[in-house]
Parts: sequence; structure tokens; C-alpha cells
Amino acid sequence: MPVFKTEAIALGRIDYGDSSQIITFYTRDYGKIHTLAKGFKRTSGRQSSKAVDLLTYYQILFIKKEHTSLHTLTEAILQNNYPVLRTDLDKYYKAACMAEMVNEFTGENDPSEQLFDIFASTLGGTTADTDAMISLLAFEIKTLKILGYLPEWGRCVNCKSDMPQVTEIYFNAKEGGVLCGRCQGKWKNGILVPAGAIRIASRLTDINVQRLGRVRIQSSICVEIEKMLRYYINFVLQKGLNSWKYIRI
Ligand SMILES: [Zn+2]
Repeated sequence: MPVFKTEAIALGRIDYGDSSQIITFYTRDYGKIHTLAKGFKRTSGRQSSKAVDLLTYYQILFIKKEHTSLHTLTEAILQNNYPVLRTDLDKYYKAACMAEMVNEFTGENDPSEQLFDIFASTLGGTTADTDAMISLLAFEIKTLKILGYLPEWGRCVNCKSDMPQVTEIYFNAKEGGVLCGRCQGKWKNGILVPAGAIRIASRLTDINVQRLGRVRIQSSICVEIEKMLRYYINFVLQKGLNSWKYIRI
């Protein structure tokens, strides 16, 4: 049976029997995959050298099964366990939120090297000084863009006119963007977002991940952007993310 090798970040795992786990990875070459990892479970009191940790970067070897989406993991070679995430719970939860985004927004065997690289470089660029909220916002927005869900923030999504200079703007998830004063009355659902938050969200779309460490955004603006994204993601997925409950906004 053919053995495949790829770079992978562990997104999730569930126990399977006494010593095995089903581990979900986001991989560079195959997108999201589920693998049966026999003998990988860390049992109490005994460290399994093969145990796979979440939010950790591995090079993995797996046997691809033809008629099932559950492949067999044969090896996971540690590349980066992102040490700062292990000592800072707040950063860990925000990284877990990124992993849940990737897990929920991607299908199996549908790779995006761009998304993989943004994910790996966002986790890899996290230092003790990183503002994890800004990293999370940028990651959420970049993920939406890469996967084709980026909302329209620059012009009215309905009539395409430029947005007027106002302090608050209507954002409608169903329409997929902001609405001008003339169009907002046609749709009942939507939220009012400060214009400054929309402007900064739009700027985060193309910001270089390496530069994120130097970006400073008022926490009240971060909260407004995250509220807008949660409202929008909730509409796109038709559900919220579990990790939101660990990230207070
Ligand atoms: Zn309009």
C-alpha cells in the first residue's frame, strides 16, 4: 500500500479503543485528513513516544486507504510544538479557535497550500509579546479570503456605491457585506458596526503575517471586529465555534 508523506498540523483527536486515536490533521498537500493512529494514545503514567499533541506541527507518514476517508497514520515526526502556546492559556485558546476555523471551513482532501502556510506561520510567529487577539482576527479574515468567503467591506454589497462617511455601518451576513443607507432598509437582519472597525478589518485582510507583531489595535475595536466575524461565521457555518466560549470578548 502506498505511503504518503506531508507536513501537517494536528487539529483534533478522539480516543479509539484502549491505545489508538483518530487524529485529524490539516496537511499541506492533502488538506484535512482523518487518520487512525494505532498505539499513539498517551496512557496514564506512561509517556507514549508516539503521542500526537494538538496544535503541533509534524511531518507525517500515512497509508492512504482507497475506499474510506480514514487513513492509517504510521509516523509523526515533531517539527514544532510552538512552546509559547504551552505556557500561555489565552494564546492556546486563540490558536485552538484558528484550528477549529480550519476544521470547520475545509473539506477532506481539498488542499490549500496558502491556508496551510498562513496557519503555520501564524502559530510559528506567536511570541510572548504577540497580541493573540490581533493574530486571531487576521487569521480569521485571511481564512475567509483564501476560502472565498471574504465579506465586502469597501462598498455597498447591494448597489456597489461607495460608503458614506458615517460613524456606524450596517453589515449584513446574508448579503455578505456592508450596506449603504439607501439599501439597509431592504434587509431587516444585520448589525451596526463602527466604521473604524470595518476599516481595520479590511486592512487586516492582506497584512503580512510577519508584521503582525508590530500591529497595535485598540482592544475595543478588536472586540467590535470579532463580534462582526462571529456573527458572519455563524451565518456561513450555520453554527458557532465551540472555542468561542473560551475567548471572552
Ligand atoms: Zn447600497
